[in-house]
Amino acid sequence: SSIGSSQREPKKDVLLGGLLVPGFDEHSCASRYQAAYYHKDMARRPSPHLIKRLREQEALQRRCGPGTEPYARASQRLKSGQTDAAGDEIDGCRYLVLISYRGLGNRMLAMASAFLYAMLTDRVLLVDRGYGDTLTSLFCEPFPNATWALPHDFPLENFKDLGEDAPESYGNVAVNRSGSVTGLRFVYLHLDHAASQANRLVYCDDHRQFLHRLQWAVLRTDQYMAPGLFFNLAYRDELDRLFPSKDSVFHILSRYLLHPTNDIWGMVTRYYDSYLRNADERVGIQIRVFENRDTPFQQVLDQILACTSQEHLLPAVVGAAGGVSSPAFKAGAAGGGGGGGARSVAVLVTGLSSWYADSIREMYWKSATVTGEAVRVHQPSHEEHQHYFHGEHDMKALAEIYLLSLTDKIVASGWSTFGYAGYGLAGHTPYLLFRPMNYSEPAPNPPCTRAMSMEPCSHGAPGFECTRKEINRNIDTGVLLPHVRPCEDMSWGLKLT
Ligand code: GDP
Repeated sequence: SSIGSSQREPKKDVLLGGLLVPGFDEHSCASRYQAAYYHKDMARRPSPHLIKRLREQEALQRRCGPGTEPYARASQRLKSGQTDAAGDEIDGCRYLVLISYRGLGNRMLAMASAFLYAMLTDRVLLVDRGYGDTLTSLFCEPFPNATWALPHDFPLENFKDLGEDAPESYGNVAVNRSGSVTGLRFVYLHLDHAASQANRLVYCDDHRQFLHRLQWAVLRTDQYMAPGLFFNLAYRDELDRLFPSKDSVFHILSRYLLHPTNDIWGMVTRYYDSYLRNADERVGIQIRVFENRDTPFQQVLDQILACTSQEHLLPAVVGAAGGVSSPAFKAGAAGGGGGGGARSVAVLVTGLSSWYADSIREMYWKSATVTGEAVRVHQPSHEEHQHYFHGEHDMKALAEIYLLSLTDKIVASGWSTFGYAGYGLAGHTPYLLFRPMNYSEPAPNPPCTRAMSMEPCSHGAPGFECTRKEINRNIDTGVLLPHVRPCEDMSWGLKLT
Protein backbone atom coordinates (compact mmCIF):
# COMPACT_ATOMS: atom_id res chain seq x y z
CA SER A 1 0.00 0.00 0.00
CA SER A 2 1.00 3.63 -0.25
CA ILE A 3 1.70 3.65 3.49
CA GLY A 4 5.20 2.74 2.41
CA SER A 5 5.97 6.25 1.19
CA SER A 6 7.01 7.21 4.69
CA GLN A 7 9.53 4.40 4.65
CA ARG A 8 11.01 5.50 1.33
CA GLU A 9 11.88 8.97 2.59
CA PRO A 10 12.69 8.42 6.25
CA LYS A 11 13.99 11.91 6.92
CA LYS A 12 10.67 13.75 6.67
CA ASP A 13 9.46 15.26 9.92
CA VAL A 14 6.00 13.73 9.70
CA LEU A 15 5.02 14.94 13.14
CA LEU A 16 5.56 18.56 12.07
CA GLY A 17 7.96 19.71 14.73
CA GLY A 18 6.01 18.24 17.62
CA LEU A 19 2.64 19.54 16.45
CA LEU A 20 1.38 15.95 16.13
CA VAL A 21 1.76 13.31 18.80
CA PRO A 22 3.18 9.90 17.98
CA GLY A 23 1.38 6.79 19.08
CA PHE A 24 -1.60 6.63 16.73
CA ASP A 25 -2.10 3.51 14.67
CA GLU A 26 -0.57 4.61 11.38
CA HIS A 27 -2.87 2.47 9.27
CA SER A 28 -6.05 3.79 10.82
CA CYS A 29 -5.30 7.30 9.61
CA ALA A 30 -2.66 7.28 6.88
CA SER A 31 -3.00 11.01 6.13
CA ARG A 32 -1.63 11.89 9.55
CA TYR A 33 1.65 10.24 8.68
CA GLN A 34 1.79 10.78 4.92
CA ALA A 35 0.60 14.36 4.50
CA ALA A 36 4.11 15.67 5.15
CA TYR A 37 5.26 13.91 1.98
CA TYR A 38 2.65 15.73 -0.08
CA HIS A 39 2.45 19.14 1.54
CA LYS A 40 5.13 21.74 1.39
CA ASP A 41 6.86 22.27 4.72
CA MET A 42 4.73 24.22 7.14
CA ALA A 43 4.71 27.95 6.51
CA ARG A 44 5.27 28.57 10.25
CA ARG A 45 6.57 26.38 13.06
CA PRO A 46 4.28 25.73 16.02
CA SER A 47 5.49 27.54 19.14
CA PRO A 48 6.74 25.52 22.13
CA HIS A 49 3.90 26.96 24.18
CA LEU A 50 1.31 25.81 21.65
CA ILE A 51 2.81 22.33 21.66
CA LYS A 52 2.65 22.23 25.44
CA ARG A 53 -0.97 23.41 25.48
CA LEU A 54 -1.93 20.88 22.81
CA ARG A 55 -0.57 18.06 24.96
CA GLU A 56 -2.56 19.41 27.92
CA GLN A 57 -5.71 19.66 25.83
CA GLU A 58 -5.21 16.08 24.63
CA ALA A 59 -4.90 14.98 28.25
CA LEU A 60 -8.09 16.85 29.12
CA GLN A 61 -9.95 15.25 26.21
CA ARG A 62 -8.77 11.85 27.42
CA ARG A 63 -9.60 12.42 31.05
CA CYS A 64 -13.04 13.98 30.55
CA GLY A 65 -14.17 12.77 27.13
CA PRO A 66 -16.92 10.31 26.20
CA GLY A 67 -16.42 6.91 27.72
CA THR A 68 -15.00 8.26 30.98
CA GLU A 69 -16.61 8.44 34.40
CA PRO A 70 -16.46 12.25 34.48
CA TYR A 71 -18.27 12.39 31.13
CA ALA A 72 -20.97 10.03 32.39
CA ARG A 73 -21.49 12.19 35.48
CA ALA A 74 -21.49 15.44 33.50
CA SER A 75 -23.99 14.15 30.99
CA GLN A 76 -26.17 12.82 33.80
CA ARG A 77 -26.12 16.27 35.39
CA LEU A 78 -27.10 17.85 32.09
CA LYS A 79 -29.90 15.37 31.66
CA SER A 80 -31.31 15.78 35.15
CA GLY A 81 -31.08 19.55 35.04
CA GLN A 82 -28.90 19.80 38.10
CA THR A 83 -27.67 23.35 37.98
CA ASP A 84 -26.01 24.26 41.27
CA ALA A 85 -23.24 26.68 40.52
CA ALA A 86 -20.52 24.81 42.36
CA GLY A 87 -21.30 21.68 40.43
CA ASP A 88 -19.35 22.70 37.38
CA GLU A 89 -16.21 22.06 39.33
CA ILE A 90 -17.09 18.40 39.59
CA ASP A 91 -14.16 16.46 38.17
CA GLY A 92 -12.75 19.65 36.67
CA CYS A 93 -14.39 18.82 33.36
CA ARG A 94 -16.23 21.39 31.28
CA TYR A 95 -17.47 20.89 27.74
CA LEU A 96 -17.92 22.79 24.51
CA VAL A 97 -20.31 21.13 22.07
CA LEU A 98 -20.01 22.35 18.50
CA ILE A 99 -23.10 22.11 16.30
CA SER A 100 -22.20 21.19 12.70
CA TYR A 101 -24.09 22.94 9.93
CA ARG A 102 -23.55 24.54 6.51
CA GLY A 103 -20.96 23.57 3.93
CA LEU A 104 -17.72 21.76 4.55
CA GLY A 105 -15.49 24.83 4.35
CA ASN A 106 -17.66 26.54 6.95
CA ARG A 107 -17.49 23.48 9.16
CA MET A 108 -13.70 23.26 8.93
CA LEU A 109 -13.24 26.90 9.93
CA ALA A 110 -15.71 26.36 12.77
CA MET A 111 -13.93 23.23 14.01
CA ALA A 112 -10.47 24.78 14.01
CA SER A 113 -11.57 27.95 15.77
CA ALA A 114 -13.88 26.15 18.21
CA PHE A 115 -10.89 24.01 19.13
CA LEU A 116 -8.89 27.15 19.85
CA TYR A 117 -11.76 28.48 21.95
CA ALA A 118 -11.98 25.19 23.85
CA MET A 119 -8.26 25.37 24.56
CA LEU A 120 -8.49 28.97 25.78
CA THR A 121 -11.40 28.18 28.09
CA ASP A 122 -10.17 24.75 29.25
CA ARG A 123 -13.15 22.92 27.83
CA VAL A 124 -13.35 19.53 26.18
CA LEU A 125 -14.34 19.95 22.52
CA LEU A 126 -17.11 17.66 21.34
CA VAL A 127 -18.21 17.92 17.73
CA ASP A 128 -21.71 17.04 16.62
CA ARG A 129 -21.40 14.19 14.10
CA GLY A 130 -23.67 15.80 11.56
CA TYR A 131 -26.37 14.05 9.61
CA GLY A 132 -25.24 10.60 8.53
CA ASP A 133 -22.19 10.67 10.79
CA THR A 134 -20.27 12.85 8.35
CA LEU A 135 -17.76 13.87 10.98
CA THR A 136 -16.33 10.41 11.43
CA SER A 137 -16.47 9.51 7.74
CA LEU A 138 -14.53 12.67 6.85
CA PHE A 139 -12.01 13.21 9.63
CA CYS A 140 -9.80 11.02 11.77
CA GLU A 141 -9.83 11.38 15.52
CA PRO A 142 -7.36 14.15 16.34
CA PHE A 143 -6.71 13.25 19.99
CA PRO A 144 -4.98 10.02 20.98
CA ASN A 145 -7.13 7.56 22.95
CA ALA A 146 -10.07 9.92 23.02
CA THR A 147 -12.98 10.79 20.80
CA TRP A 148 -14.14 14.24 19.81
CA ALA A 149 -17.39 12.94 18.32
CA LEU A 150 -20.43 13.87 20.35
CA PRO A 151 -21.97 10.60 21.58
CA HIS A 152 -25.23 9.51 19.96
CA ASP A 153 -26.87 9.53 23.37
CA PHE A 154 -25.97 13.12 24.18
CA PRO A 155 -28.82 14.02 26.52
CA LEU A 156 -29.71 17.51 25.33
CA GLU A 157 -32.66 16.83 23.07
CA ASN A 158 -33.13 19.15 20.06
CA PHE A 159 -29.94 21.06 20.73
CA LYS A 160 -29.52 21.56 17.01
CA ASP A 161 -32.67 23.66 16.95
CA LEU A 162 -31.29 26.23 19.35
CA GLY A 163 -31.46 29.75 17.98
CA GLU A 164 -30.29 33.11 19.17
CA ASP A 165 -33.54 33.81 21.01
CA ALA A 166 -33.17 30.75 23.23
CA PRO A 167 -33.32 31.56 26.94
CA GLU A 168 -29.90 29.95 27.28
CA SER A 169 -28.29 32.12 24.62
CA TYR A 170 -25.35 34.20 25.74
CA GLY A 171 -26.98 37.34 24.42
CA ASN A 172 -30.08 36.73 26.54
CA VAL A 173 -28.13 35.87 29.63
CA ALA A 174 -25.80 38.85 29.28
CA VAL A 175 -28.36 41.47 28.31
CA ASN A 176 -31.72 40.31 29.71
CA ARG A 177 -30.62 38.35 32.75
CA SER A 178 -27.67 40.53 33.71
CA GLY A 179 -25.48 37.50 33.69
CA SER A 180 -27.59 35.36 36.00
CA VAL A 181 -27.36 31.69 35.11
CA THR A 182 -29.70 30.51 37.86
CA GLY A 183 -31.75 27.60 36.60
CA LEU A 184 -29.84 27.17 33.35
CA ARG A 185 -28.46 23.76 32.47
CA PHE A 186 -26.11 25.09 29.83
CA VAL A 187 -25.32 28.23 27.92
CA TYR A 188 -25.78 28.51 24.20
CA LEU A 189 -23.21 30.48 22.21
CA HIS A 190 -24.73 31.68 18.97
CA LEU A 191 -21.88 32.83 16.77
CA ASP A 192 -23.36 32.25 13.35
CA HIS A 193 -21.93 34.74 10.83
CA ALA A 194 -25.18 36.69 11.08
CA ALA A 195 -25.47 36.62 14.89
CA SER A 196 -26.76 39.68 16.72
CA GLN A 197 -24.19 41.90 18.39
CA ALA A 198 -25.61 40.86 21.78
CA ASN A 199 -24.70 37.25 21.05
CA ARG A 200 -21.28 38.30 19.85
CA LEU A 201 -20.60 39.46 23.41
CA VAL A 202 -19.28 35.92 23.89
CA TYR A 203 -16.04 37.21 22.40
CA CYS A 204 -15.70 39.49 25.40
CA ASP A 205 -16.57 36.99 28.12
CA ASP A 206 -13.73 37.24 30.55
CA HIS A 207 -14.21 34.06 32.60
CA ARG A 208 -15.00 36.05 35.70
CA GLN A 209 -18.49 36.61 34.42
CA PHE A 210 -20.86 33.70 34.09
CA LEU A 211 -19.68 31.42 31.35
CA HIS A 212 -17.21 29.53 33.50
CA ARG A 213 -19.93 28.67 35.98
CA LEU A 214 -21.64 26.40 33.52
CA GLN A 215 -20.26 22.98 32.85
CA TRP A 216 -21.85 22.78 29.41
CA ALA A 217 -21.61 25.27 26.57
CA VAL A 218 -23.22 24.61 23.19
CA LEU A 219 -21.72 26.54 20.31
CA ARG A 220 -23.21 27.25 16.92
CA THR A 221 -20.85 28.79 14.44
CA ASP A 222 -20.33 28.45 10.72
CA GLN A 223 -17.37 30.75 10.59
CA TYR A 224 -13.88 31.49 11.76
CA MET A 225 -13.95 32.79 15.32
CA ALA A 226 -10.24 33.33 15.84
CA PRO A 227 -9.93 37.05 14.96
CA GLY A 228 -12.71 37.95 17.41
CA LEU A 229 -10.96 36.15 20.27
CA PHE A 230 -8.08 38.63 20.07
CA PHE A 231 -10.36 41.41 21.29
CA ASN A 232 -10.64 39.77 24.67
CA LEU A 233 -8.02 41.00 27.12
CA ALA A 234 -8.41 37.79 29.11
CA TYR A 235 -7.06 35.78 26.17
CA ARG A 236 -4.62 38.16 24.58
CA ASP A 237 -1.42 37.21 26.43
CA GLU A 238 -2.14 33.55 26.02
CA LEU A 239 -2.85 34.00 22.30
CA ASP A 240 0.42 35.88 21.92
CA ARG A 241 2.29 32.99 23.48
CA LEU A 242 0.41 30.37 21.49
CA PHE A 243 0.86 32.21 18.20
CA PRO A 244 3.89 34.51 18.06
CA SER A 245 2.98 34.93 14.36
CA LYS A 246 -0.69 35.75 14.08
CA ASP A 247 -0.87 35.08 10.35
CA SER A 248 -0.95 31.31 10.60
CA VAL A 249 -3.44 30.34 13.30
CA PHE A 250 -5.69 28.36 10.98
CA HIS A 251 -2.73 26.92 9.08
CA ILE A 252 -1.23 25.43 12.21
CA LEU A 253 -4.50 24.37 13.83
CA SER A 254 -5.87 22.78 10.66
CA ARG A 255 -2.68 20.77 10.15
CA TYR A 256 -3.02 19.65 13.76
CA LEU A 257 -6.72 18.86 13.77
CA LEU A 258 -8.09 18.04 10.34
CA HIS A 259 -6.79 14.74 9.01
CA PRO A 260 -8.87 13.15 6.24
CA THR A 261 -9.89 9.52 6.70
CA ASN A 262 -8.28 6.79 4.62
CA ASP A 263 -10.97 6.73 1.92
CA ILE A 264 -10.53 10.43 1.30
CA TRP A 265 -6.77 10.25 1.58
CA GLY A 266 -6.86 7.61 -1.16
CA MET A 267 -8.80 10.00 -3.37
CA VAL A 268 -6.32 12.78 -2.66
CA THR A 269 -3.16 10.80 -3.26
CA ARG A 270 -4.39 8.94 -6.35
CA TYR A 271 -5.37 12.22 -7.94
CA TYR A 272 -2.19 13.97 -6.91
CA ASP A 273 0.04 11.16 -8.12
CA SER A 274 -1.82 10.89 -11.44
CA TYR A 275 -2.23 14.52 -12.40
CA LEU A 276 -0.19 16.88 -10.25
CA ARG A 277 2.95 15.25 -8.98
CA ASN A 278 5.04 15.41 -12.13
CA ALA A 279 4.32 18.99 -13.09
CA ASP A 280 7.00 21.64 -12.62
CA GLU A 281 4.43 23.86 -11.00
CA ARG A 282 0.92 23.40 -9.64
CA VAL A 283 -1.57 26.25 -9.67
CA GLY A 284 -4.90 25.84 -7.85
CA ILE A 285 -7.95 27.79 -8.99
CA GLN A 286 -10.98 27.56 -6.71
CA ILE A 287 -14.14 28.77 -8.36
CA ARG A 288 -17.20 29.51 -6.28
CA VAL A 289 -20.19 31.25 -7.80
CA PHE A 290 -22.78 32.30 -5.23
CA GLU A 291 -25.73 32.11 -7.53
CA ASN A 292 -28.10 29.27 -8.29
CA ARG A 293 -28.02 29.52 -12.05
CA ASP A 294 -27.35 26.46 -14.13
CA THR A 295 -25.54 28.26 -16.90
CA PRO A 296 -22.01 29.53 -16.22
CA PHE A 297 -20.93 33.16 -16.33
CA GLN A 298 -18.51 34.38 -19.01
CA GLN A 299 -17.70 37.26 -16.65
CA VAL A 300 -16.35 34.86 -14.03
CA LEU A 301 -14.06 33.21 -16.58
CA ASP A 302 -12.90 36.64 -17.74
CA GLN A 303 -12.17 37.60 -14.16
CA ILE A 304 -10.14 34.46 -13.48
CA LEU A 305 -8.05 34.89 -16.62
CA ALA A 306 -7.54 38.58 -15.92
CA CYS A 307 -6.28 37.60 -12.47
CA THR A 308 -3.92 34.84 -13.61
CA SER A 309 -2.57 37.25 -16.22
CA GLN A 310 -2.23 40.22 -13.86
CA GLU A 311 -0.42 38.10 -11.29
CA HIS A 312 1.64 36.17 -13.88
CA LEU A 313 0.32 32.86 -12.63
CA LEU A 314 -0.36 31.25 -16.00
CA PRO A 315 1.36 31.85 -19.33
CA ALA A 316 -0.38 33.90 -21.98
CA VAL A 317 -1.30 32.25 -25.25
CA VAL A 318 0.05 33.37 -28.61
CA GLY A 319 -2.19 35.91 -30.30
CA ALA A 320 -4.42 36.44 -27.30
CA ALA A 321 -6.14 39.79 -27.10
CA GLY A 322 -6.17 42.34 -24.32
CA GLY A 323 -6.00 41.21 -20.76
CA VAL A 324 -5.10 37.63 -21.46
CA SER A 325 -1.85 38.49 -23.21
CA SER A 326 1.01 38.68 -20.78
CA PRO A 327 4.41 38.75 -22.46
CA ALA A 328 5.92 39.85 -19.17
CA PHE A 329 5.34 36.36 -17.76
CA LYS A 330 8.62 34.85 -16.67
CA ALA A 331 8.50 31.16 -16.24
CA GLY A 332 11.86 30.80 -14.59
CA ALA A 333 12.99 27.50 -15.98
CA ALA A 334 10.87 27.63 -19.14
CA GLY A 335 11.62 24.69 -21.35
CA GLY A 336 12.07 26.91 -24.38
CA GLY A 337 10.99 25.84 -27.81
CA GLY A 338 8.46 23.32 -26.54
CA GLY A 339 8.88 19.64 -27.27
CA GLY A 340 9.03 16.88 -24.72
CA GLY A 341 11.19 18.91 -22.34
CA ALA A 342 8.85 21.86 -22.00
CA ARG A 343 8.21 23.13 -18.53
CA SER A 344 4.81 21.99 -17.41
CA VAL A 345 2.18 23.69 -15.33
CA ALA A 346 -0.65 21.66 -13.85
CA VAL A 347 -3.76 23.66 -13.09
CA LEU A 348 -6.10 22.18 -10.50
CA VAL A 349 -9.54 23.69 -10.88
CA THR A 350 -12.20 23.10 -8.25
CA GLY A 351 -15.77 24.18 -8.71
CA LEU A 352 -19.31 22.94 -9.05
CA SER A 353 -19.41 23.61 -12.80
CA SER A 354 -17.08 22.06 -15.38
CA TRP A 355 -17.39 24.87 -17.92
CA TYR A 356 -14.64 27.09 -16.53
CA ALA A 357 -11.97 24.41 -16.53
CA ASP A 358 -13.12 23.16 -19.94
CA SER A 359 -12.77 26.66 -21.33
CA ILE A 360 -9.29 27.18 -19.91
CA ARG A 361 -8.20 23.77 -21.18
CA GLU A 362 -9.54 24.54 -24.63
CA MET A 363 -7.74 27.88 -24.67
CA TYR A 364 -4.42 26.11 -24.09
CA TRP A 365 -5.28 23.46 -26.65
CA LYS A 366 -6.18 25.85 -29.42
CA SER A 367 -3.22 28.19 -28.89
CA ALA A 368 0.40 27.80 -27.89
CA THR A 369 1.74 29.51 -24.81
CA VAL A 370 4.13 32.40 -25.37
CA THR A 371 6.61 30.75 -23.02
CA GLY A 372 6.46 27.34 -24.65
CA GLU A 373 5.19 25.81 -21.44
CA ALA A 374 2.69 22.98 -21.45
CA VAL A 375 -0.41 23.77 -19.41
CA ARG A 376 -2.59 20.89 -18.26
CA VAL A 377 -5.93 21.64 -16.71
CA HIS A 378 -7.54 19.18 -14.32
CA GLN A 379 -10.77 19.23 -12.36
CA PRO A 380 -11.52 16.31 -10.04
CA SER A 381 -15.31 16.69 -9.94
CA HIS A 382 -18.14 18.93 -11.01
CA GLU A 383 -21.04 18.27 -8.70
CA GLU A 384 -23.18 21.01 -10.29
CA HIS A 385 -25.12 21.72 -7.10
CA GLN A 386 -24.28 22.06 -3.45
CA HIS A 387 -25.68 19.48 -1.03
CA TYR A 388 -25.49 19.33 2.74
CA PHE A 389 -24.25 16.30 4.67
CA HIS A 390 -24.36 14.00 1.69
CA GLY A 391 -21.69 11.35 2.17
CA GLU A 392 -19.99 11.08 -1.19
CA HIS A 393 -20.48 14.74 -2.05
CA ASP A 394 -18.79 15.82 1.19
CA MET A 395 -15.97 13.35 0.60
CA LYS A 396 -15.26 14.85 -2.79
CA ALA A 397 -15.39 18.33 -1.33
CA LEU A 398 -12.84 17.43 1.34
CA ALA A 399 -10.59 15.66 -1.17
CA GLU A 400 -10.66 18.78 -3.34
CA ILE A 401 -10.01 21.18 -0.46
CA TYR A 402 -7.06 18.97 0.43
CA LEU A 403 -5.83 18.79 -3.18
CA LEU A 404 -5.92 22.58 -3.34
CA SER A 405 -3.67 22.58 -0.30
CA LEU A 406 -1.10 20.55 -2.25
CA THR A 407 -0.68 23.15 -4.99
CA ASP A 408 2.05 25.79 -5.12
CA LYS A 409 -0.08 28.88 -5.72
CA ILE A 410 -3.77 29.38 -5.17
CA VAL A 411 -6.36 31.63 -6.73
CA ALA A 412 -9.42 31.57 -4.48
CA SER A 413 -12.89 33.03 -4.72
CA GLY A 414 -13.69 35.84 -2.33
CA TRP A 415 -16.25 35.02 0.39
CA SER A 416 -15.78 31.28 -0.02
CA THR A 417 -14.89 29.30 3.08
CA PHE A 418 -14.08 26.34 0.78
CA GLY A 419 -11.19 28.35 -0.61
CA TYR A 420 -10.15 29.70 2.80
CA ALA A 421 -9.80 26.15 4.09
CA GLY A 422 -7.75 25.12 1.03
CA TYR A 423 -5.19 27.91 1.12
CA GLY A 424 -5.06 27.89 4.92
CA LEU A 425 -4.18 24.22 5.01
CA ALA A 426 -1.63 24.86 2.29
CA GLY A 427 -0.07 27.78 4.13
CA HIS A 428 -0.13 29.99 1.03
CA THR A 429 -1.05 33.62 0.82
CA PRO A 430 -3.69 33.36 -1.91
CA TYR A 431 -4.71 35.53 -4.80
CA LEU A 432 -8.27 36.45 -3.87
CA LEU A 433 -10.85 37.06 -6.57
CA PHE A 434 -13.17 39.89 -5.58
CA ARG A 435 -16.69 38.62 -5.35
CA PRO A 436 -18.98 40.10 -8.01
CA MET A 437 -22.20 41.16 -6.31
CA ASN A 438 -23.94 40.77 -9.66
CA TYR A 439 -22.41 38.07 -11.83
CA SER A 440 -24.06 39.35 -14.98
CA GLU A 441 -22.23 42.64 -14.84
CA PRO A 442 -18.65 43.08 -16.07
CA ALA A 443 -16.09 41.44 -13.78
CA PRO A 444 -14.62 43.50 -10.92
CA ASN A 445 -11.56 45.52 -11.83
CA PRO A 446 -8.97 44.80 -10.54
CA PRO A 447 -10.03 41.16 -10.70
CA CYS A 448 -8.09 39.99 -7.67
CA THR A 449 -5.49 40.92 -5.12
CA ARG A 450 -2.70 39.18 -3.31
CA ALA A 451 -4.02 38.58 0.21
CA MET A 452 -2.32 39.97 3.32
CA SER A 453 -2.03 36.57 4.92
CA MET A 454 -2.93 32.90 4.66
CA GLU A 455 -5.67 33.33 7.27
CA PRO A 456 -9.38 32.85 6.60
CA CYS A 457 -11.67 35.85 6.84
CA SER A 458 -14.03 35.91 9.82
CA HIS A 459 -17.50 36.75 8.56
CA GLY A 460 -19.04 37.47 11.96
CA ALA A 461 -16.53 39.23 14.19
CA PRO A 462 -17.61 41.63 16.96
CA GLY A 463 -18.43 45.21 16.02
CA PHE A 464 -17.56 46.64 19.45
CA GLU A 465 -14.65 46.93 21.84
CA CYS A 466 -14.56 44.53 24.76
CA THR A 467 -13.70 47.36 27.13
CA ARG A 468 -16.94 49.17 26.20
CA LYS A 469 -19.29 46.48 24.93
CA GLU A 470 -21.40 49.04 23.12
CA ILE A 471 -23.48 46.63 21.13
CA ASN A 472 -25.82 49.24 19.73
CA ARG A 473 -23.07 51.24 18.11
CA ASN A 474 -21.20 49.42 15.37
CA ILE A 475 -17.61 50.63 15.27
CA ASP A 476 -14.81 49.76 12.89
CA THR A 477 -13.05 47.02 14.80
CA GLY A 478 -10.55 46.54 11.98
CA VAL A 479 -8.42 49.42 13.26
CA LEU A 480 -8.12 48.44 16.93
CA LEU A 481 -5.43 45.78 16.89
CA PRO A 482 -2.24 45.60 14.83
CA HIS A 483 -2.86 42.03 13.68
CA VAL A 484 -6.60 42.17 13.03
CA ARG A 485 -7.52 43.84 9.76
CA PRO A 486 -10.52 44.17 7.47
CA CYS A 487 -10.55 41.35 4.91
CA GLU A 488 -9.58 41.96 1.30
CA ASP A 489 -12.74 40.32 0.02
CA MET A 490 -15.31 41.48 2.59
CA SER A 491 -15.11 44.96 4.08
CA TRP A 492 -16.89 44.04 7.32
CA GLY A 493 -14.99 40.79 7.79
CA LEU A 494 -11.83 40.62 9.90
CA LYS A 495 -8.69 38.60 9.43
CA LEU A 496 -5.46 37.99 11.26
CA THR A 497 -2.27 39.13 9.59
P1 GDP B 1 -18.69 28.28 0.74
O1 GDP B 1 -20.18 28.16 0.66
O2 GDP B 1 -18.06 28.63 -0.58
O3 GDP B 1 -18.26 29.19 1.84
O4 GDP B 1 -18.06 26.85 1.07
P2 GDP B 1 -18.63 25.60 1.87
O5 GDP B 1 -17.63 24.49 1.70
O6 GDP B 1 -18.97 25.97 3.25
O7 GDP B 1 -20.00 25.21 1.15
C1 GDP B 1 -20.02 24.92 -0.19
C2 GDP B 1 -20.34 23.46 -0.43
O8 GDP B 1 -20.71 23.31 -1.82
C3 GDP B 1 -19.15 22.54 -0.24
O9 GDP B 1 -19.00 22.08 1.06
C4 GDP B 1 -19.46 21.45 -1.21
O10 GDP B 1 -20.48 20.62 -0.68
C5 GDP B 1 -20.03 22.23 -2.39
N1 GDP B 1 -18.96 22.76 -3.23
C6 GDP B 1 -18.70 24.07 -3.50
N2 GDP B 1 -17.62 24.17 -4.31
C7 GDP B 1 -17.20 22.90 -4.56
C8 GDP B 1 -16.12 22.35 -5.32
O11 GDP B 1 -15.31 23.04 -5.92
N3 GDP B 1 -15.99 20.99 -5.30
C9 GDP B 1 -16.85 20.19 -4.62
N4 GDP B 1 -16.66 18.88 -4.66
N5 GDP B 1 -17.88 20.68 -3.90
C10 GDP B 1 -18.05 22.01 -3.87
